[in-house]
Amino acid sequence: MNFNDIKDMDNEYIANTYARFDIAIKNGRGSTLYDYDGKKYIDFSTGIAVNSFGVCDTLWENAVIEQATKLNHVSNLYYSLPQAKLAKMLCERTNMKKVFFANSGAEANECAIKTARKYSSDKYGKDRYEIITLKNSFHGRTIATLAATGQDVFHQNFGPFPLGFKYVTANSIEEMKEAMTDKVCAVIMEMVQGEGGVMPLDKKFVEETYKMALEKDILVIIDEVQTGNGRSGSLYAYMQYGINPDIVTTAKGLAGGLPFGAILFGEKTKGVLSFGDHGSTFGGNPICANAAISILSRIDDKLLEEVKEKSKLIFDYMSGCKNVLSVDGLGLMIGIKTTKNAKDIVKECLNKGLIVLTAKDKIRLLPALNISYIDLQNGLQILREVIEG
Ligand SMILES: *Cc1c(COP(=O)(O)O)cnc(C)c1O
Repeated sequence: MNFNDIKDMDNEYIANTYARFDIAIKNGRGSTLYDYDGKKYIDFSTGIAVNSFGVCDTLWENAVIEQATKLNHVSNLYYSLPQAKLAKMLCERTNMKKVFFANSGAEANECAIKTARKYSSDKYGKDRYEIITLKNSFHGRTIATLAATGQDVFHQNFGPFPLGFKYVTANSIEEMKEAMTDKVCAVIMEMVQGEGGVMPLDKKFVEETYKMALEKDILVIIDEVQTGNGRSGSLYAYMQYGINPDIVTTAKGLAGGLPFGAILFGEKTKGVLSFGDHGSTFGGNPICANAAISILSRIDDKLLEEVKEKSKLIFDYMSGCKNVLSVDGLGLMIGIKTTKNAKDIVKECLNKGLIVLTAKDKIRLLPALNISYIDLQNGLQILREVIEG
């Protein structure tokens, strides 16, 4: 099979939902990828923050293979060691109290929305169901998480949406205060708006929102689907904002390349869901769970220090370059605004053997947490040439 055969087959048989770039990756290792012509790429995208330790990382492979040869799946009617072990690990490292396992970010947020509404309906009755979300946010592609997503471009053609979502301008404490009426049960936020253009929230805004929510018993849900699992330079990004969320959702990088999601419940929410309230056929799959145990156990203080160091290196290298307007982000989740068209930059980088992403009008970098300094330097050099050229 050469590239054109794959492209033709894809175009004929796969729904046209993705504006694909003209490339198919065949294999790779770490932060090095190869296409079907044997061309080599440095990867600054990790499959959109999924391959936390790059492609076919040996320790990750071992965790997956070990479990795959023991038990590939078991229904949630029975106890399962990898799930229980992973849940314990997640709780111990976050101070959260309980976990539900899902398969994706959208599903994790669906579960968070259901939990917030049940918490409120148990305690306050039926009318306190509204959820505040931020403008420019992204929370997923299901109908409810699309409604929670504060970007109109995603809403066209898919209505009607479930009621009860309202949108507040990010970093506007005034608007947030006004929105927190007695009909509101929860607020959901990304600490860094990823799809929205890699926009970190102001510390003051997050602190004030948290304080106001606490006073009114409004639950704070933090969407760590993209920022989570070491990406931000801490295990979860909220840890850098000094808050204790009631619910944390995560997915993308959690199992290092397998579909997996988790919802972490705090003290207030740990008992909200009971028998029959929620479920998932695949959620907590043992192979995914074992992969996640391997990933989480490697995200220690040393690795997080390294993430911060690499982050600083990228900021220092790219800030002030010709045609660069701004560099934003947290840890190894970085957005670069330039005077050029972002898609054109991506295409030129691909030609030169570097894979980068876009987020709105920015270039988005999401390299592997363990990318080598050499790969990082070489990739940045290509990116700079392209942006300055
Ligand atoms: C990617 C993403 C989602 C959706 O995750 P899926 O696994 O694609 O369903 C939700 N929230 C945020 C912040 C994301 O970045």
